[in-house]
Amino acid sequence: MDAKRLGRLHDLGITPWVTRHGSQPAVAREPRPATPPGPAPVSLTVQSAATKDGRAAAIAAMDWTALKAAVTACTACGLRAGCTQTVFGVGDERAKWLVIGEAPGAEEDKQGEPFVGRAGQLLNSMLAAIGLKREQVYIANVLKCRPPGNRDPKPEEAELCRPFLERQIALIRPKIILAVGRIAAQNLLHTDTTIGRLRGTVHRLGDVPLVVTYHPAYLLRSPGEKRKAWADLKLAVRTAGAGA
Ligand code: SF4
Repeated sequence: MDAKRLGRLHDLGITPWVTRHGSQPAVAREPRPATPPGPAPVSLTVQSAATKDGRAAAIAAMDWTALKAAVTACTACGLRAGCTQTVFGVGDERAKWLVIGEAPGAEEDKQGEPFVGRAGQLLNSMLAAIGLKREQVYIANVLKCRPPGNRDPKPEEAELCRPFLERQIALIRPKIILAVGRIAAQNLLHTDTTIGRLRGTVHRLGDVPLVVTYHPAYLLRSPGEKRKAWADLKLAVRTAGAGA
């Protein structure tokens, strides 16, 4: 293990985990089939969508260009009126790993990118500890717009925004989803089970395995929990590596 990586693990409060042979938990990059060409961009005017199902179906047919434009133009749940900009997501659009958080915070709202600031730096360190650069994964949120005062998303807001995330997942076709934080995990899995109970198990979102871990903002406040986050990352590495 090089000194840089040791430093990152140290940031996580972790004694590096080394296999009997001294190797690290490798994140095998398998050749991915080319993403099939997306359909022609679909025009989506949310206000004129005949039904919720019609809106979801239109979003489900979008390619990346149309999807980004639809998110930028969306005013479906009203959160857009109170935020600076939508935060679509960032990273490798064919990534093996998809990290999903809750919603943009103040800094994300300002910069238009998820997981920036101190929590973003810790997420980068967590990824680096398993041999991944931020650019190698895709990072998105359940909500694309910042809720006022960083309040929890309302169920109806998450429901209206969900088709965008579902289309992102379908386009990326990740090998593993890392749900970061209680709100993201509960929304994705449609449950009110505590994060403590959701951790440590491989869930599924459609046909994609999903592992739950703590939000880095929580880990900054509760550094004693970093070891559990490290265990979650190792579970995700094993799951992704197994090609589940
Ligand atoms: S949070 Fe999602 S559904 Fe609500 S306005 Fe923003 S993009 Fe649209």
